Amino acid sequence: MTRDDVPPTGGFAALGVEPALASALEALGYEEPTAIQRESIPPLLEGRDLLGQAATGTGKTAAFALPILQRVVTGEPEPNRPRALVLVPTRELAMQVAEALHRYGRAKHASVLPIYGGQHIGQQLRALQRGAEVVVATPGRALDHIERGTLDLGGVRVVVLDEADEMLDMGFAEDLDAILKRTPKERQTALFSATLPKRILSIAEKHLRNPVRIAIAAPRPQAGEAPRVRQVAYVVARPHKHAALGRVLDMESPTSAIVFCRTKREVD
Ligand code: AMP
Repeated sequence: MTRDDVPPTGGFAALGVEPALASALEALGYEEPTAIQRESIPPLLEGRDLLGQAATGTGKTAAFALPILQRVVTGEPEPNRPRALVLVPTRELAMQVAEALHRYGRAKHASVLPIYGGQHIGQQLRALQRGAEVVVATPGRALDHIERGTLDLGGVRVVVLDEADEMLDMGFAEDLDAILKRTPKERQTALFSATLPKRILSIAEKHLRNPVRIAIAAPRPQAGEAPRVRQVAYVVARPHKHAALGRVLDMESPTSAIVFCRTKREVD
């Protein structure tokens, strides 16, 4: 269900969102909560763990950001000791989620810091030292800071695993385990994933306590907006595959392309 399918519900305040945050959202033009927000915000505000199946575009960022801002952000950061940790698979998502938290939490003077691989470590060390109440991190870089002693998770009250399936696909499973081990047992944990295969469910079983389960379908394209996809298959004998691929690329001359192969050697 998308936000267009549902009748108005009385806005964010009806979900228990505090006035400072509700007005920030109104100012951003968010009139009504989306389905994932309606279902996730009340249990998260109560402190429940949550297992949410939701894709990007459903409004899931605000669904976990608002409860974090309301429950743990006071505007008084401690050096190197965040109160909430959001783990995401990529640097782009880290920046995007941090920016959203910053926008929604401006009235509360929320300090939000994205930390990700590839960014200058010295800059991150100084920012962590100044203190951030919410850290949004990619797992590898978070672990790096934990091991350096520059990220202390002992004061973390909320952990969000965002796009958990992507994090596992990128090989972060062990990093996630190692990071979660450094957080207090009594923390609140929310896991969001577009898909819920077995390996996600086993992470949930290991790290979530009696979670509320929520599943929200990805937003459907409006009529007329559906992407038009042309699919073509060329069946060629194995020895001719390379030449055929070369011809197809010449003919189509795409601005970008992804070629999938079965083996590492074929990729080379
Ligand atoms: P997300 O799924 O979190 O990436 O959000 C998708 C987009 O929806 C973002 O551009 C948000 O700014 C926007 N959005 C989130 N919640 C709402 C809402 N309640 N009303 C309008 N737009 C929203």
